[in-house]
Amino acid sequence: MDNKFPNKISLNAKSVAIIGGGLAGVAAAWMLHCSGYKVVLIEKRPFLGGRAYSFTDSATGVEVDNGQHVFMRCFSEYISLVKQVGSFDKTKLQSSMNVEVRDSGGNIGVLSSSPLPSYLSFLPSFLFYRYLSINEKIKAILVLLKIKFIKNIQSEDLQNISFKDWLKNNNQSEKSIRNFWDLIILPTLNDHSSNVTTSMALMVFKTTLLGDRHASDIGFAQYGLSTVMGTPMKDKLVDCGVSLVLGKQVLDLKHSKGVITELKLSDGQKIKADFYISAIPPFALMSLLPDSLKKTELGLAGTHDFSPIINAHIWYDKTVADFEWTAFINSPLQYVFNRSVISNLDQEGTYLTISISGASEFWSKTKEQLKELLVDELNKCLPLTASAKIKRFIIIKEQRATFRNLPGASINNRLKSATPLDNFYLAGDWTDTGWPSTMEGAVISGNLAAKAIIARDGSGN
Ligand SMILES: Cc1cc2nc3c(=O)[nH]c(=O)nc-3n(C[C@H](O)[C@H](O)[C@H](O)COP(=O)(O)OP(=O)(O)OC[C@H]3O[C@@H](n4cnc5c(N)ncnc54)[C@H](O)[C@@H]3O)c2cc1C
Repeated sequence: MDNKFPNKISLNAKSVAIIGGGLAGVAAAWMLHCSGYKVVLIEKRPFLGGRAYSFTDSATGVEVDNGQHVFMRCFSEYISLVKQVGSFDKTKLQSSMNVEVRDSGGNIGVLSSSPLPSYLSFLPSFLFYRYLSINEKIKAILVLLKIKFIKNIQSEDLQNISFKDWLKNNNQSEKSIRNFWDLIILPTLNDHSSNVTTSMALMVFKTTLLGDRHASDIGFAQYGLSTVMGTPMKDKLVDCGVSLVLGKQVLDLKHSKGVITELKLSDGQKIKADFYISAIPPFALMSLLPDSLKKTELGLAGTHDFSPIINAHIWYDKTVADFEWTAFINSPLQYVFNRSVISNLDQEGTYLTISISGASEFWSKTKEQLKELLVDELNKCLPLTASAKIKRFIIIKEQRATFRNLPGASINNRLKSATPLDNFYLAGDWTDTGWPSTMEGAVISGNLAAKAIIARDGSGN
């Protein structure tokens, strides 16, 4: 459906009202618009982008993300959407995967892909990876090969066991789990391997490191997330005639005889459409659902658990690092992004963003406590910071950053796009996409909901 959007929408076009202007809602809006539907997208905040947004920090004048967002080349539907709204040139995507992993001793280990085919591609770098012994590397390679050839990753056994226990059962040491497996699991699933199902962890490895040679090339927005996503998405949708209702919340879903009949907004406005999509997080859906619908399978939306992310933003008065971004092992720093280099900032000094995934253990710490902890750690790991002055420090805590993939959850609460109501569909990263809570999952979910409406409606308009 690339760029085949109609210039003129037929007078008989059916209408779709989409609740939620995150990536899922935007993807659904775009695909339905391209298929000839009249689309209205309602977002409670005054901007699009949902959990991936930025704002201008008044003290520095710099655009600050609510949280560093990373994608990979295997995020094909996300990349396609960003290309279609015309802002892919505002992202940076590696031509081949290369991850530098530092420790507090100043050492650097590298994981990178080579010209070898497919899943063998990263092995040469792995053999030189300094944070595992030869014995641990051989054992890890054997497990990677095992993962490559496991066919049914959704088996009950794999759903019920934590990835950490599964790794231990497969001869992986604590050190190997910490210095290799969790290096990938923590940022992708926003939880430690002890808290994720083996099924989802295997999906991550099969799709990234063991996927196509370029699957795990890493990318991120070069500028603020709203400059790269929310704003161009808004402009594109408005330009081609999608109705945007921003800054208004949907407060009520009216339903009768098995269909949604109307949405009520916070300003009293009522919106009627032929089809409706909920592209909001599961807890937000729960607060909209009338009690009678909570008793249907839709009520499973209320059973999701969430994992937090904390981002620290620090401005130093001097240049303290020259890398674009790096991972740290055995450190709360986890992943550090040098926004001065990435965004080519025209300012003296260095602006670093520290992204802490699976941040429950840090959640109760105050801003001052986090500052002390992270600044001390930076002084150890990046010694140039010790002699630099901190000009500004911001902490952003996102409590419900991503839904969790806990092991042994006895219910499948990732709902399909179709619902018990005939004209009501679900989207959102938490729905049944097969992907973890990511931008790719969100875009896939929006596309799936749009396709379900198009299929239900015949060939579309
Ligand atoms: C700090 C942080 C870091 C992250 N890092 C990454 C990363 O590195 N890589 C990655 O791929 N993913 C990352 N994610 C996850 C990613 O942001 C999400 O998976 C994705 O953005 C979810 O999109 P969505 O459209 O499903 O939901 P959301 O983005 O939550 O969008 C839902 C929208 O619905 C709106 N809404 C809610 N209720 C109503 C209502 N009643 N009426 C109208 N509007 C309503 C909300 O305001 C919101 O805009 C991160 C998330 C966070 C918070």
